[in-house]
Amino acid sequence: MATKILYFTVNGRPEQAEFPLDCPAQDVKDLFRSAAEAGPHDILKLYNPKGNIINISPSLEPNSPSSCYKLEVVAADCNNEPFGAELAGALGFDLSSMEKRLQGLEKNILIEAGETPAAVYEMKKQVDSFREKLESVEHLSWLGLFKDLSEGTHKPSPFYHKRTLRKTKKECEHVRENSLEVSEEVRQYLKTPTFDNWQWEDAEIMVLLQVMYTDLDFIAIFNIEPEVLQQFLFEVYRRYNNIPFHNFKHCFCVTQMMYGLIWLTDLRSKMDSTDLLIMLTSAVCHDLDHTGYNNAYQINARTELALRYNDISPLENHHCAVAFEILEKKESNIFRNLPMDQYKRIREGIIKCVLATDMTSHNEILNKFKSILPTFDFTIKDHRDVLMMILIKVSDISNEARPMEVAEPWLDCLLQEFYNQSDMEKLEGLPVTPFMDRDKVNKPSSQTGFIRFVLLPLFIELANLFPSLEQHIINPVRKALDYYTEMEKALEREKVNRAQSENAAKSKETAMGTQSTADSQSETSKPDPQ
Ligand code: 5GP
Ligand code: MN
Repeated sequence: MATKILYFTVNGRPEQAEFPLDCPAQDVKDLFRSAAEAGPHDILKLYNPKGNIINISPSLEPNSPSSCYKLEVVAADCNNEPFGAELAGALGFDLSSMEKRLQGLEKNILIEAGETPAAVYEMKKQVDSFREKLESVEHLSWLGLFKDLSEGTHKPSPFYHKRTLRKTKKECEHVRENSLEVSEEVRQYLKTPTFDNWQWEDAEIMVLLQVMYTDLDFIAIFNIEPEVLQQFLFEVYRRYNNIPFHNFKHCFCVTQMMYGLIWLTDLRSKMDSTDLLIMLTSAVCHDLDHTGYNNAYQINARTELALRYNDISPLENHHCAVAFEILEKKESNIFRNLPMDQYKRIREGIIKCVLATDMTSHNEILNKFKSILPTFDFTIKDHRDVLMMILIKVSDISNEARPMEVAEPWLDCLLQEFYNQSDMEKLEGLPVTPFMDRDKVNKPSSQTGFIRFVLLPLFIELANLFPSLEQHIINPVRKALDYYTEMEKALEREKVNRAQSENAAKSKETAMGTQSTADSQSETSKPDPQ
């Protein structure tokens, strides 16, 4: 039987196909498909030596090895790609399915028209360039898609991607093994706002938190079994996510500042232990299971949390609900030996404190505090309640009250989380939170306003009630304000200088352009040396 031999390459590999002259079209296509090891949904393209796409059919011109056809698989199945599912997860929409739809469309058109129309090519190009952007822009690496070309491997960032957000069981186990001996010196240092969290590992921080419960006598007063406290803190640790700012170390800092404030203001002589237990435990729990996106995002993106809590403080409601989920379990319920009415009071107190950390109620709480300040009375429950809310609020946003070398890395973490959120808002087409926009915000610009209009007005009111706090929390904040104001000015000067030198370079270029024109003109107008 007469046969035809065709020479072609697949991914640069030379192949040859032989088929009978009267072979059905489908068989020829299947032959090429198996040569390309392509799946049933993949699209094959055959190019002639001139680079034109040609139909795969029995009537293909026979050729020689020196004038090979080129076979390409243009549409590999996206679900087999390592990044397909991740893209969908991280973006909230499925880029792979979009690509697949395009492939389907292209396939239909190919069958009917024999070639890919320009419009489909254009769309494919746009999808390809979007994917390329996601995979090559370094600051989007937290999406887990970034391909570090220098290493030639795909290495997702350990932070932030939805899959790596939560701590794994294995990751948690090491914090159980802690044999830290806490010296008297460290116990005293722990009571001060100058404490440096960066010097301590998570396993050690777990011990330091237990020291706080012990040294405030909570273990004895509330009959807390040490194993239960440990289990409680372990569950808390597990439910702080691996995100840049709202992580377990932030939980520790807020708790440690609360602990420091309790000692610095000698609160033990003014309020009962139950209130102190409420405040310390609220600080421990106040950002549980934060995912790194604030309430505005939750609401705009209509997340599960926003739906569940009807847009009312979705995050804070969630932090608190997770806290009581942990306390519902006997083995981690540090209040399990308390009578029901005391548990009820503690629950009410924790809910109030954690919900007070929603910054949308900032002015309302601060104004209430200001109005009761002139007649503040520790025996009035209402007054104590407002003070407790103020104290957790102060602790929550107290990074700038710490020494610069402790505070500044925290600002980097905060901005990283902010930028991640605004990147996501841009990708999802949501309103971009202005103070999180990497194109608009930098370190000094985010701190000067925050310190002037949020931190100082709040801290000053607390210092009105406790004047001894002035040196501990207000002075360092003022220093931070000076530092960032200077940084802002320096950046501004740098900007002006850069603009000036750019302008100078431009005018020089123009002048040189004019000069060279003048030169060439003078050249032509030079008198003939002869
Ligand atoms: P959170 O309860 O989220 O830990 O703290 C409340 C919010 O206050 C943060 O999400 C953040 O928006 C803001 N915040 C806290 N500390 C700082 C800071 O040092 N600088 C700025 N610009 N904002 C802060
Ligand atoms: Mn917080």
